[in-house]
Amino acid sequence: MTDIAHNLETVRTRIATAARAAERDPSAITLLAVSKGHPAHAIRTARRAGQQAFGESYVQEALAKMAELVDIQAQWHFIGPLQSNKTKDVAEHFDWVHSVERLKIAERLSRQRPPQLPPLNVCIQVNSSGEISKAGIGPAQAPELARAILALPNLRLRGLMTIPARESDPDAQRRPFAQLRCLLDELSAQLSRPLDTLSMGMSDDLEAAILEGATVVRIGTAIFGARPRQGAGAP
Ligand SMILES: *Cc1c(COP(=O)(O)O)cnc(C)c1O
Repeated sequence: MTDIAHNLETVRTRIATAARAAERDPSAITLLAVSKGHPAHAIRTARRAGQQAFGESYVQEALAKMAELVDIQAQWHFIGPLQSNKTKDVAEHFDWVHSVERLKIAERLSRQRPPQLPPLNVCIQVNSSGEISKAGIGPAQAPELARAILALPNLRLRGLMTIPARESDPDAQRRPFAQLRCLLDELSAQLSRPLDTLSMGMSDDLEAAILEGATVVRIGTAIFGARPRQGAGAP
């Protein structure tokens, strides 16, 4: 068994164990393998080991790998910072975008989504740490953005995403995840539309995220190892 296949098994076990502790069904939690910074052959190996959803943060890097992997069936999630000049590539090549934080970007994605493809699944990225420098919209601004996104024809609003500040204490890890869950519940009620996705939890805090209701965990290092490539740091 390759390291990647072995690591995938370990992560799946962590997810199942955390789900059991939270009295949740493990099959309600999607494992997103974050392959940014790793070569196409690592994705191919993970795909062979049964992994279907892959997360990328840099558009050019992702497109180059997709071109090498045209022969595999995979679901592609864009999870990085998104500039206006890259929205077309993302609208054309990805199935999901987790990192929508501005209406202008959402409007471009909807306009540029090719008509033959299903609507692009999107999450609003929320800044749960209150640090000005961190990516994501403030929680108070999320309802207005969500309402505007619901009016866009080629996007399907699925829920919320967050990248909290790093914490090693498990209770401290849970706090921003609990806040995101409350925000999702409030939004679902306000919009009278169920939003089904909480994209939260990474290699070091997936257990805390699952205890607070994560439906997608985004795992890079624990599957693929340390990111070797330049430009591969977390945003
Ligand atoms: C890199 C990245 C991850 C994965 O982080 P790991 O700590 O390697 O698991 C998850 N989410 C986002 C948005 C990232 O950029």
